[in-house]
Amino acid sequence: MLVVMQAQATEEQVRAVCKKIEAHGLRPHSIPGAQRTAIGITGNQGLVEIGLEEMPGVQEVIQVSKPYKLVSRDVKQDNTVIRFSAPKGGEIGIGGTELAIIAGPCSVESREQAFAIAECVHRAGVRFFRAGAYKPRTSPYSFQGLGLEGLQILAEIRERYGLKIVTEAIDHESLDLVEEHADVIQIGARNMQNFSLLKRAGRAKKPVLLKRGIAATLEEFLMAAEYVMSEGNYNIILCERGVRTFVDHSRNTLDLSVVPAVQRLSHLPIIVDPSHGTGQRTKVTPLSRAAIAVGADGLIVEVHNDPDRALSDGPQSLYPDQFEELMSELRQIASVLHRSIPPQSAQSQRPQTAAVR
Ligand code: PEP
Ligand code: MN
Repeated sequence: MLVVMQAQATEEQVRAVCKKIEAHGLRPHSIPGAQRTAIGITGNQGLVEIGLEEMPGVQEVIQVSKPYKLVSRDVKQDNTVIRFSAPKGGEIGIGGTELAIIAGPCSVESREQAFAIAECVHRAGVRFFRAGAYKPRTSPYSFQGLGLEGLQILAEIRERYGLKIVTEAIDHESLDLVEEHADVIQIGARNMQNFSLLKRAGRAKKPVLLKRGIAATLEEFLMAAEYVMSEGNYNIILCERGVRTFVDHSRNTLDLSVVPAVQRLSHLPIIVDPSHGTGQRTKVTPLSRAAIAVGADGLIVEVHNDPDRALSDGPQSLYPDQFEELMSELRQIASVLHRSIPPQSAQSQRPQTAAVR
């Protein structure tokens, strides 16, 4: 159920409605919008009669027919922008006019490797650094990540470059540590329906990057986000990373059509992962261009300074110069859509050189 407040409703009136909802053992979620505040109600099974219609400041009480409520555009018409404080003052947003490009290696392998790649992506104009410290690998014999040591390296990278850190939590224990050390908690494709982990992420104080499950429908994807939001964390970034199909020319099938589909149904930002979506370096650049053209709010891209020796996902990692070139192409595509990507960082611009391989 959803309580739509009048445009001129006061904060006190909003609080009184929330109190009444709580008094009935239900949970209010106050969601301020550009025009008016809406209050989502969770915890009820179907319609409940609380008599909210008569309260001062209430415009109407409506039943939300979709299974997902809080993530739905019915509850909030304007786009959600996830806001971070910028290192030199001001704000960085995900879901606003500026596109969010998140880049870095699949895994933190060593301090030297992570710093070398952070230097490259920072120079290219990136504001968010990705790298896994806890890796969900198909084989138990594959590199599992550096764990806490990896998180500490990432925290040092934030200090050095002012990059916001995006890294994956794979269970409750790692989520506690990721929440403490990172800026965005990534929930991977394999955990998209780990409901206990989603609820824990919903109680976290940091934004959540939720990746689409490897065979998840759009509704299942949005329901996973609803799990996080129903616990009180409204800062969620959705991420399309490809789904499993019959094709064998790429690791997964990147479903770019899900971007406008999500944008119609939900107010949450959605970004695209062309690296796991394709599994092959040669396809990452074309699909990155396409993802921005289709209207995604950003990308998460794997970049490695020595992909042949990477401990995970080398074949899909861009070389630093390829990534720099991609960024300059994306800036041009973004401008057609009246969006932007930050410029190369001033202190480290260098002449463009054609890469030969
Ligand atoms: C990753 O981002 O490194 C990762 C493991 O992604 P996914 O969960 O999409 O497979
Ligand atoms: Mn990876």
